[in-house]
Amino acid sequence: MDHQTSITPPVLIFPLPLQSTINSNLQLAELLCLAGLRVTFLNTNHNQQRLVGNSNVESRFKQYPGFRFLTLSDGLPDDHPRSVEQFGDILSSLQTMAEPLLKQMLSALVKEPVTCVILDGLFYYGVDIGNEMGVPVITFDTISPSCFWIYLSLPKLIEAGVLPFKGNDLDALVTHLPAMEGLLRRRDLPHFCLLDYKTDQNSQAVFKEIERLPKAHGLILNSFEDLDGPFLSSVRSYFPKTYAIGPLPLNLKSRLAAKATPLLSSSNSLWEEDHTSIKWLNAQSNGSVIYVSFGSLLVVSRDEMMEFWHGLMNSKVKFLWVMRPNMLKGDVSRDQFMKELVEGSKGIGYIVSWAPQKMVLAHPSVGGFLTHSGWNSTLESIIEGKPMICWPQYVDQRVTSRLVNEFWKIGLDMKDICDRFVVEKMVKDLMETKKDEYKKSVEKLSKLAKLSVQEGGLSYSNLDCLINDIKGLTR
Ligand code: UDP
Repeated sequence: MDHQTSITPPVLIFPLPLQSTINSNLQLAELLCLAGLRVTFLNTNHNQQRLVGNSNVESRFKQYPGFRFLTLSDGLPDDHPRSVEQFGDILSSLQTMAEPLLKQMLSALVKEPVTCVILDGLFYYGVDIGNEMGVPVITFDTISPSCFWIYLSLPKLIEAGVLPFKGNDLDALVTHLPAMEGLLRRRDLPHFCLLDYKTDQNSQAVFKEIERLPKAHGLILNSFEDLDGPFLSSVRSYFPKTYAIGPLPLNLKSRLAAKATPLLSSSNSLWEEDHTSIKWLNAQSNGSVIYVSFGSLLVVSRDEMMEFWHGLMNSKVKFLWVMRPNMLKGDVSRDQFMKELVEGSKGIGYIVSWAPQKMVLAHPSVGGFLTHSGWNSTLESIIEGKPMICWPQYVDQRVTSRLVNEFWKIGLDMKDICDRFVVEKMVKDLMETKKDEYKKSVEKLSKLAKLSVQEGGLSYSNLDCLINDIKGLTR
């Protein structure tokens, strides 16, 4: 089905070059196309090749005549590993390529101007360029609202002398954090708060992002009021024009259904999805399997993998585990290691390189999720009403895992521990002993998430407000 498209200039969407951000920005792009807006999606050549090769994105977006992809080089050689450890380098290399392109695209002299730009907050320089050229820039921050609120509070934490931390007690509670008093320990803050954030490249980008926010036209966050109400209110007290339009996969599903558009399987994967995982799940009993995945970026040492593997095997709970091709830290032969794990797991566990995660979490055989607490994974798990065990590392993961455990009470937080006995105990607790308790709370949130994207729900109306705001810019 072809959708009606306005003749106004397109919205330019520019996501961070990561699986999770490409995913959420494509969901947003589809929502804008459904509302009749035109969208130009700026992706790096490297990720575009992977996206087109592994997902059904091209056929899905063909139904929107106003949508097009545009690519740019990230400035790195083809064989660069682009791993999370080099994230700062990736960002600065991309900046040298993106700055001149954005200036050119936003110039008043081009044949096809853009209505506005939606970009990741870490591309803070885009806000400056937009202001210079008179083009509104909306920041889309794909991290959790709670973490975003911590970002906004960083200057006050420094002013109050909370940061940098004095002493080594990581269990000390963090003060001077409105809406979170008594909730977070030092170890629950974004990882760079524990580093020398004055010299760390990634933290510097965060400071520049929050400095630029007041100059942005609006802010989009991927969450819903019933989940993140206090943190969203706090963000709005600082920056009122904040649109909480999540969970995006649900909002998209609901808008597609309203337009009677066939819901094509919405894969935005950069890796090939292994659908034998679904076949394997079909053969398992209801709620019996724990799904294990640490997202698209995390690298894990062989020793850590072995702790998880022993813990899972000893729990005797069946597991489906994603081990990405680029997931092993150090100089370990992945093929040999995988071969041994696959052999050793027979009868209990099934291991794949990349799974159709949304389908996996929706599968009735899956009873829980052992996750790194990436924001997309967390929302996807909540949507499907699956409780979680969290093993967080970076950025918002550390905050989210604390909220999972202590605030929403929908799972357990392993935090900085990686030990087979803890893994075994937590898996048994989540899947057996404390199963009903966690299931009840996460199913309640799942229902609220579904209501929020229906007509009358806040994520539904927030999305309408965002769309009207963008349409108003074109008049
Ligand atoms: N994902 C997937 N298959 C996998 C593992 C992950 O499709 O085997 C998707 C998952 O559904 C989510 C994204 O990859 O949408 C990971 O994003 P998240 O924010 O959870 O973590 P990140 O990868 O940014 O650390």
